[in-house]
Amino acid sequence: MYNKITGDTRLIGLLGSPIRHSKSPMMHNTAFQHLGLDYVYLVFEVDNHNLEEAVQAMKTLDVTGFNVTMPNKQKVIPLLDEITESARIIDAVNTVKNQDGRLVGDNTDGKGFVMSLTDEGVAVKDKDFVIIGAGGAARSIGIQLALDGARKISIFNRTLQQADDLKKVIEENIPGCTVETHEIDMGLLKAEALKADVLVNCTNIGMGVHKDQSVITDPSVFHKDLVVADVIYSPPFTKTLQMADAAGCKTINGLGMMIGQGALAFKIWTGEDMPADLIKEVILKP
Ligand code: NAP
Repeated sequence: MYNKITGDTRLIGLLGSPIRHSKSPMMHNTAFQHLGLDYVYLVFEVDNHNLEEAVQAMKTLDVTGFNVTMPNKQKVIPLLDEITESARIIDAVNTVKNQDGRLVGDNTDGKGFVMSLTDEGVAVKDKDFVIIGAGGAARSIGIQLALDGARKISIFNRTLQQADDLKKVIEENIPGCTVETHEIDMGLLKAEALKADVLVNCTNIGMGVHKDQSVITDPSVFHKDLVVADVIYSPPFTKTLQMADAAGCKTINGLGMMIGQGALAFKIWTGEDMPADLIKEVILKP
């Protein structure tokens, strides 16, 4: 087993709960090893009850940085010295860098999603999007799309209030982007999808107990000029993507977003580019 930890090895952590299933240690440690970087990435079972002590410990131990995941992405904000503009608008942090003792928070989730589109040759600027969902993933994606110049975003969510909250945040902070909200209705969704360039499923329908389902129950919502993305990467080819593929759409699953958010965090901590193709291979191994 690879083990070259010395007195100089730098620590990067992940604070979340539950956390043992996370693929982030495999992703980052593989990249450190491949590039010969003297870091180790470890996960720590931390929830809202012990978050403050854990963040203080990260500072005391002078770690290079850390990731933050559920349920800590919002609660960590007041414990940091500074956050980036996009993290402020999203109101969530997933990556923290220790800059000479000051903890600086950023959010790479939405940027990772945009990176996954760009890698597939799909542009954001001046394009029209349909987002289904208004939870954490939809929020970071919607705000990043607006920051990157999306022309219009139509948000469909089971709970309209959640979608309206996201609309308000985008309109207050990024005035150039038009935002509409709707409850999930196949007729309205079809009408909006017809005018849109990209549709993104940001709900958890398509994974776990919902593995064989799609939030889209009418296949005629899809048309061949629509790019369809799903934030889910396990399973890699969700029911939504299967229906979109059958209609001739280009499809993109959530693996690129997952690797993209990790690659951006990796760059923030180490200044180096993550070997994305190698990481994709490692993550896809059963
Ligand atoms: P979340 O904050 O809990 O939001 C869940 C969203 O799904 C909400 O909009 C919710 O609607 C909707 N939803 C849940 N059950 C539904 C149902 N039965 N019918 C219709 N809508 C339903 O979760 P999240 O953090 O945004 O995560 C959402 C998905 O993104 C998960 O599958 C997660 O694994 C994935 N994700 C992927 C990445 C990646 O890197 N690829 C990163 C983050 C998340 P309501 O508002 O009405 O409850």
